[in-house]
Amino acid sequence: MISNGAVIIGGGISGLSAAYDLARAGFPHTIIEKRPRLGGMIETHRVEGCILEGGPDSFISQKPEALALIKDLGLESDVTGSNDRTRTTYILKHGRLVKLPEGVMMIVPSRVMPVLESPLLGWRTKIRMGLEMFRKPQSHPDRSVAEFVIDHFGEETLDYMAEPLLSGVYGGDPRQMSIISVLPRFAEWEAKYGSLARAALKARGKTPSGSGPLFRTLKSGLATLTETLAKNVCHRQAEAQAIEREGDAFRVGVDGEWITAKHVVLACPAWAASTLVGPIDAALSARLAEIPYTSSATVTLGYRGSGFDGKRAGHGFLVPQKERKRLAACTFVNEKFPNRAPAGVTALRCFFGGAGDDAVLNESDESLVAMARAELQRILGLTAAPFFHTISRWPRSMAQYTVGHGARWKEIESRIAATPGLHLAGNGYTGIGVPDCIRMGRQAAARILKR
Ligand SMILES: Cc1cc2nc3c(=O)[nH]c(=O)nc-3n(C[C@H](O)[C@H](O)[C@H](O)COP(=O)(O)OP(=O)(O)OC[C@H]3O[C@@H](n4cnc5c(N)ncnc54)[C@H](O)[C@@H]3O)c2cc1C
Repeated sequence: MISNGAVIIGGGISGLSAAYDLARAGFPHTIIEKRPRLGGMIETHRVEGCILEGGPDSFISQKPEALALIKDLGLESDVTGSNDRTRTTYILKHGRLVKLPEGVMMIVPSRVMPVLESPLLGWRTKIRMGLEMFRKPQSHPDRSVAEFVIDHFGEETLDYMAEPLLSGVYGGDPRQMSIISVLPRFAEWEAKYGSLARAALKARGKTPSGSGPLFRTLKSGLATLTETLAKNVCHRQAEAQAIEREGDAFRVGVDGEWITAKHVVLACPAWAASTLVGPIDAALSARLAEIPYTSSATVTLGYRGSGFDGKRAGHGFLVPQKERKRLAACTFVNEKFPNRAPAGVTALRCFFGGAGDDAVLNESDESLVAMARAELQRILGLTAAPFFHTISRWPRSMAQYTVGHGARWKEIESRIAATPGLHLAGNGYTGIGVPDCIRMGRQAAARILKR
């Protein structure tokens, strides 16, 4: 079956992007997806007139791949941007919500006054930030994000800025994460300028104003993207169980039968790819297995506006590890994007899990909702009862780029290159976001079509 074609294992955005380009070129292909639904972590709940995301809620505008694919699919008119004019994020400190100073680029202040005036950081940290401006260029081997941040700006910046902001994006632990793989620009600045604060001030001067919203999404929900892709590709619901070599092709074991294919795209998580490639390349399998993943759950609660008695907190708030019980972050959904909920409804999306809290997946729906309500009462003083909720669980879903990831990826890449017909795509390698996954999926398709 499809002996000259491609089998794509995994029907998330990575696999769908690869399959879409193959389909457009008329190249025979099949996605093998074990879940009943295509789309992977992209999952939109359309409930009570609301558009609510269980996984990603947007994609970063700076990376062009998502918008390019959306245009190819003719969905451009469905694109909307984040409400950047009202963008404020809060951080919980000593039980109180404190505004993240304006102009902070993940860990680096790019404006002086907002940081000086902010109660988020103490005077010692602020003086340290000022002295950081005098650093000379330095090169370091890969090191952890925590070590890097402490070296430049001290522990308090790690605890109340870097850790919560990074855990919001990666669900990861900065003491394990690699600065070169996670924040490569800052490692480059350190080598080129020495001071990150000086480099950020310079970069800010060069950024054109009015360059559009920071994040974009689809008005009808991101699932419109994956649903539209799904209509254009071939797919079978089954779990791929093994891959073996067959001459210069492969055979993929699916539900007790073998599918032969010239190309296999591993568009599943690295841990799943590791099991599958074991019989073909034990060293590749071992490297893939070294990429850890964290788990998470999102719980969205819907409130009637009239009964909502909690504090408002801009686009939402982050809970640093030091202040955390279980809740890691919360988004005010209808503040971040327009038209996510009808007038009079407030939707709050709560994040649980991340590094060190995989156990959250074992909680029942009732317990997750109770945890979310208790945390919102503690932080926002919200006592009203939600009139609906949605829950999504994401086991072993967010890849962690730990120290040494760059070297590991180089070895994986060269072993893949040495196995013609085998391709990788997904969030485990060169970027965690939706645009990165689309880029990798489309690159895999381009390589297949070139051959
Ligand atoms: C809560 C949350 C919020 C996020 N927020 C954002 C955001 O706002 N912006 C952003 O850009 N990114 C965000 N991300 C990250 C982004 O969503 C993911 O990195 C991306 O969607 C991963 O896509 P993928 O196709 O690589 O993997 P997946 O979506 O996981 O797809 C892989 C698929 O492979 C299937 N599979 C695995 N093994 C097998 C097998 N043996 N046989 C058959 N099928 C198999 C799985 O069932 C799955 O469907 C978020 C992620 C989460 C969990």
